[in-house]
Amino acid sequence: MIDLRSDTVTKPSLGMLDAMMSAKVGDDVFNEDPTVIELEQYAAQLLGTDAAIFCPSGTMTNQIGINVLSNPYEEVLCYKGAHIYKYEGGGVAGTSGLSFRLLEGDRGRLSCEEIVNNINPDDIHFPKTSIIEIENTVNKGGGCYYTLSEIEGIFKIANEYNLKMHLDGARLFNALIETGENSEDYGQYFDTISICLSKGLGAPVGSLLAGKKEYINKARRVRKFLGGGMRQAGYLGAAGLYALKNNIDRLKEDHRKAQRLASALSVCDYIEEIYPVETNIVIFRLGSGLYTEVVLEKLKAKGVLAVPFGKSEVRLVTHMDVSESQIDECCEVFTSLKI
Ligand SMILES: *Cc1c(COP(=O)(O)O)cnc(C)c1O
Repeated sequence: MIDLRSDTVTKPSLGMLDAMMSAKVGDDVFNEDPTVIELEQYAAQLLGTDAAIFCPSGTMTNQIGINVLSNPYEEVLCYKGAHIYKYEGGGVAGTSGLSFRLLEGDRGRLSCEEIVNNINPDDIHFPKTSIIEIENTVNKGGGCYYTLSEIEGIFKIANEYNLKMHLDGARLFNALIETGENSEDYGQYFDTISICLSKGLGAPVGSLLAGKKEYINKARRVRKFLGGGMRQAGYLGAAGLYALKNNIDRLKEDHRKAQRLASALSVCDYIEEIYPVETNIVIFRLGSGLYTEVVLEKLKAKGVLAVPFGKSEVRLVTHMDVSESQIDECCEVFTSLKI
């Protein structure tokens, strides 16, 4: 099977396994795991923030980030297809007692104008707008990205209206490899930043929440009550360190593979539209009257796995565990598929 369902399906490479096996560990709930401490410091530096905290998942780092920046009854501004809204089981309402203001965006990228138009006035009828949340890259938007200057514009609004900024950077390094910008420049614009080690970077488990010291200190308490305090977590931390040190530059290859898939899809008559491909995600929409389940079944029968992304949309994600020749095979499957 050629698994294009997600970049989360990768297995640790031999080099990564080696790093895990030889990790120095301790009890991280007591703050005594040297590998986790190293990973957290490394990530903080990489993202230009004071501190970082290692967590089991990106859902948890998002949930914690939103929690430490807000008070119950307040409101979060985000894209209507944002992971924190759509794919985290309603956690923000339960864990932090917040409501969402959902924005349209341009393939999920929020403009300054749309943000300003949706900030509530200071009036007791309205929830207090407290956080701007953006995703980079935007999963539901087909992996499109923001540039730092766009982010700077949003940051200025946040300052003007006294709002906090949270970044869901599950695939931040996919954006940076395209823009050529430095990750160190991100910290100045966000109160909290979540990055995933288990997506394109190829680690088996783990995410980091980076930010100002006061928020990361609070985050340790929240992580504990959510059940995310881990003990000899350095074995996982070592995989994360390996991922950050070795697997960022190679993301370019995944983007090239996504481009190759997109150009094969562009000649398929059962496909109505392919979203612009900017990173490692390819989303396409089927022609009218065609349903995702049918196409996914046929793909599966030919050895290709993908996920439904709406009634007539399909998502493919490239990653380090699909080879160039498997991409060739996929292209062949798509172009010869009879619907
Ligand atoms: C994968 C992902 C996350 C985190 O997901 P987990 O499976 O909980 O690690 C967060 N945001 C986006 C955009 C993602 O794609």
